[in-house]
Parts: sequence; C-alpha cells; structure tokens
Amino acid sequence: MLPSEGLVEPDLRQLAAAEAARLRTRLGTSDPLAIARLLGVEVRRRRRRSRADADAGIRSEYSTDPPAILVYDRTNASVGIAHELFHHGQCRGLLAPALCALSGEEAEACAHVFAEVLTGRRGAGDVD
Ligand SMILES: [Zn+2]
Repeated sequence: MLPSEGLVEPDLRQLAAAEAARLRTRLGTSDPLAIARLLGVEVRRRRRRSRADADAGIRSEYSTDPPAILVYDRTNASVGIAHELFHHGQCRGLLAPALCALSGEEAEACAHVFAEVLTGRRGAGDVD
C-alpha cells in the first residue's frame, strides 16, 4: 500500500477511480466490509505476522483461494479492505482489463486510488 503518485499513467489512475465509483454505485454501498461480503470475500483481522511485515508497512493482504482479506492495521481497516478489493477485482476479472493486467508498483498505485475513492476519502473526479 504505497501511494505512488506520478508512477502510473494518469488514465490508469482515472480508470481505477471510475471502477471504484462504479462498484459503489452497483452495490449500493461504500462500506468495504459490506462490499467484501457481497463479493464473497472473507475478511479476517489479525495481529501482524512478523516484525518484517511491520517494517515493510504491510497493513493488509489478499489471498485468492478461497478469496480472503487479512487486515493487520485496525486504524485503517476500511482502507486496507478497499485496497485488497482492488486486487480481488484484478484476480477475478471484475475490473477493466487494463487494470487487471497491472502488477507491481503500478497495481499498488491504482489500488491506492481505488481504495480512496471507494471509501469516499477522495472523489472520483479528483484524480488528475
Ligand atoms: Zn496492494
């Protein structure tokens, strides 16, 4: 979960924001936990696994089979869940193909924008 403004093409960030807004509208909620339930993704809260994870800034993780989100950071749980929902959308082809094809830092930057828009911390129109 590293905000990486400028690392990703603006149109990809715009697309991530639009997909978050579309998901919010389609499911009728901006609550990431409710969205996870609607999409069949289990959400579990855990203490951090290791000091290394803490040092790396890992606050949440997504695993694919079965789809599950582990949240380590209680203070930003909703943002962490929203971030991991982006990765779920990538894995399941629920997002635009250009977003599903992303990996590494590009995927993380778009997941960050997606999470901000999904949780209402940033408007879909705020992405340049
Ligand atoms: Zn991520």
